[in-house]
Amino acid sequence: MKILVIEDEKRVAEFIKKGLEEQGYFVEIAYDGFLGKKMAVEREYDLIILDIILPKIDGIEVCREIRKYSKSIPILMLTALSTTEDKITGLDSGADDYLVKPFQFRELVARIRALLRRQTHVETGQTYSIADLILNTETRKVTRSNTEIKLTAREFKLLEFFMQNKGKVLSRADIGQAVWEISFDPGTNIIDVYVNYLRSKIDKNYEPKLIHTIIGYGYVLKEE
Ligand code: CA
Repeated sequence: MKILVIEDEKRVAEFIKKGLEEQGYFVEIAYDGFLGKKMAVEREYDLIILDIILPKIDGIEVCREIRKYSKSIPILMLTALSTTEDKITGLDSGADDYLVKPFQFRELVARIRALLRRQTHVETGQTYSIADLILNTETRKVTRSNTEIKLTAREFKLLEFFMQNKGKVLSRADIGQAVWEISFDPGTNIIDVYVNYLRSKIDKNYEPKLIHTIIGYGYVLKEE
């Protein structure tokens, strides 16, 4: 695991580096914001520890810049500032967590571990969500309220189409084309049958209900 420490106070930076190396991490230091940003963008790290008050470019700006290149690298902000306003600014700029100086080294290590753990749990593929319903297109996993829901291939495709069109009213013809890839005889009720299967799995035992009927037209997936 490779960590970049962007911190201008030599003593603090060295202390963090030494401590983390003892924990088995590989650590590099940047003593100003400009160099820190450059290293973060050009090299590969698993996590970045970032001070806010830095020479050349401040930590908030460095964080914003890094986020343009990587949405996923965990960033832990480190600072002497401790007002709620400062914390919010830090988190809004793209930091994942915030630690106020002076801190206990044990707490720093615990937060690093938590961030790295969260990172490895990030699943690839496209994730869609509405309320507490989550669908991942690669793992093909669907959960509602943290409970996994088993769907058939057709139900999954139907839900995926709804998720891609959250909030839009979909006609039966739209659904037929997208999910069955055929034009339906408007007399058939197969779409309604499948929507009801899906409802019984993702909506029946949960609130709020997400699939809504638009009488005489079709359906819409929305949080109401
Ligand atoms: Ca500083």
